[in-house]
Amino acid sequence: MFARVALGLLLQLVVVRTGLSAGSAGSDAPGDDPRREFVEPHMGTLFRIVLYAPTGADGAAAARAAFLRIGELDRLLSDYHPESEAMRLSQEPVDTAVPVSEDLFALLQRSQVLAAATDGAFDVTLGRLTQLWRASRRTGSLPGPEALASARQASGHTLLRLDPAGRTVAFLRPGLRLDFGGIAKGYAAQAALAVLARHGITQALVAASGDLALGDPPPGRSGWSVDLAPFGPSSGPSHRLVLARVGVSTSGDTEQSLTINGVRYSHLIDPATGLGLTRAAAVTVVAPGAALSDALATACSVLDPTRLPGLVAGWPEPVHVILHQRQPDGTIQVATFGPPLPLSGFPTP
Ligand code: ADP
Ligand code: MG
Repeated sequence: MFARVALGLLLQLVVVRTGLSAGSAGSDAPGDDPRREFVEPHMGTLFRIVLYAPTGADGAAAARAAFLRIGELDRLLSDYHPESEAMRLSQEPVDTAVPVSEDLFALLQRSQVLAAATDGAFDVTLGRLTQLWRASRRTGSLPGPEALASARQASGHTLLRLDPAGRTVAFLRPGLRLDFGGIAKGYAAQAALAVLARHGITQALVAASGDLALGDPPPGRSGWSVDLAPFGPSSGPSHRLVLARVGVSTSGDTEQSLTINGVRYSHLIDPATGLGLTRAAAVTVVAPGAALSDALATACSVLDPTRLPGLVAGWPEPVHVILHQRQPDGTIQVATFGPPLPLSGFPTP
């Protein structure tokens, strides 16, 4: 229990620093620091764009286009909007191939790869179960056995059929519901970074709470400094990663947990039980893109830690995983998997 509470601090404490101390964002006078920052609420969180652009106007126009793209993805994917493309799929007759947008199809394809590689630990078809978890959060009680059995029956990555030729998806069981919560923010951050690049701005990052899409480094820097302070500023080890052109995501037990009868349930669903995870893990993933880092961070939080070395070693792209676990004696164990990063300890403030 103690370990779970401590681990709960991890997610919210990923801090991004640009490596520059002066706050001159917004000024476009010649010779001034061209760093600019823009923030908008999307997908239930704040998306932050940090970019370097020659003039304020260039940066603002690019950021506006990037936020529009994020908003468009939110409207397609959200399971909070009954009219989103993802939610409307649940209304279609079962076993019927339905044409979907490029984005929805791309996300489903990626998600199915993750599901297959993790034996369904990562599974975007768990929407009925996340719905129950949200109800539990409102009522403070676990779902009844019938509701749980019915939701579990209508969940499972093998209940989707994708056809790349026609870009269609079919649900093979009635009542199935998608939940892209474990991948959408990373996908959107990465898509927003691509929009900035199309506007000629490559020295940029897009951050959505625990998910970061990093572009080229700031001028004169080798990378963006990403500080991980997993257990708060006053305890445990911290890391500074200096990275560029990658996705970085942190996932695990969060403040969104729920305690019922003394048991703490994470908002990550354990497909084995249909309920929130009770085993705490906190994982940071660095991967070639933020969609992958987001999904893998969720997947690695759900998977038993003994599975992580195999998953990372067998992944076709280079991915780096940092697992934080607080031991029963209160010390923090950090395990890393995958090719080494420029990762070094630094004193916490
Ligand atoms: P956060 O959204 O808190 O940053 P994650 O990226 O780990 O953290 O995503 C958590 C969300 O993923 C949950 O709120 C839920 O919508 C969804 N989810 C929960 N369990 C799973 C799972 N086993 N596989 C895929 N997605 C999940
Ligand atoms: Mg995730």
